[in-house]
Amino acid sequence: VNPTAAIPDPLIEGKIWPTSRGFVDGDWYIEEDGSASRLAIRVTGKLHEERSPFQKLAVFESSCFGRFLTLDDVVMFTERDEAVYHEMLVHVPLCSMPEPRNVLIIGGGDAGCLREALKHRSVQKVVQVDIDERVTRVCQKFFPWVGPAINDPRAELIFADGVEYVSKHAGEFDVVIIDSTDPVGPAVGLFLRDFYARVANTLSEGGIMTAQTESPSWGAHLMSAIYPEMRAAFAEVTAYIGCVPSYPSGSWSWAFASNNRKPHDFFDAERAALIEKSCQYYNSAIHRAAFALPNHARQALAGENPFEHYDRRHRQTVCS
Ligand code: SAM
Repeated sequence: VNPTAAIPDPLIEGKIWPTSRGFVDGDWYIEEDGSASRLAIRVTGKLHEERSPFQKLAVFESSCFGRFLTLDDVVMFTERDEAVYHEMLVHVPLCSMPEPRNVLIIGGGDAGCLREALKHRSVQKVVQVDIDERVTRVCQKFFPWVGPAINDPRAELIFADGVEYVSKHAGEFDVVIIDSTDPVGPAVGLFLRDFYARVANTLSEGGIMTAQTESPSWGAHLMSAIYPEMRAAFAEVTAYIGCVPSYPSGSWSWAFASNNRKPHDFFDAERAALIEKSCQYYNSAIHRAAFALPNHARQALAGENPFEHYDRRHRQTVCS
């Protein structure tokens, strides 16, 4: 895929939305999102910083949120609330089918999704394909869950472009999880219909793809561009939502996509009850409730941005 050729306008990096940036100001880490909002985390130290061939990586220690990873100055996760994001991205699809065996994670270099997928006894193989090996190696050094997850005999790590990888594995996976950065840089291709069509082709009968799809509150301009791309490749596409406090607005969304399974067609209540015992956020009630969407999220799924008038004014103020 030529990642710039087929990008629908709203996804062109920085074209309609200022890119994000992050910086330390005294003992605060400030993440500025799209020049529209800021998240500030009180930090007690910077533990690591480097530039890989793909992005800038940094790890900070904070007073209240544990350690956190930033990629290109955007907070990827904090130890305090990473579980919400990873549990919802993984357990919703895996508990929505009888015996998931083969799981593919695109992105996810921090092994948070890998750790969660390995909790399911039926899972025989988890392939994690991240374009940047440095993310895994840095996270292995600073975050305790990474070592045990990547050394599990069922885990297979591949460092490659996810867009290329999904071209070569037809019908191999029961679940494909897209745990990517925002739709900028190398991740843009992971939000396009060509990629989603290739993912659909890697799924077994009844297979499910889930993906992080930004904030329904402050990222509706992205959701309204992403979901039509997904719908071009899957018969069933919907979203579920949850609260990830360290992400812009705290309200986050994940896509549930399949060619022959709807979200509530099947639910393994027994396995979900077992899994939730080791979860900080996910449980059977949350699994079902997460698919109840507010009206503005429904509009974003339909390809409309309910906050367009605010976003347009912001673009005119900041981008002009
Ligand atoms: N799991 C974290 C969280 O809680 O949100 C963040 C996601 S993870 C760190 C994002 C990963 O996507 C990064 O490690 C990045 O290297 C990877 N990535 C970006 N573009 C990619 C591509 N085209 N193929 C594979 N991985 C990609």
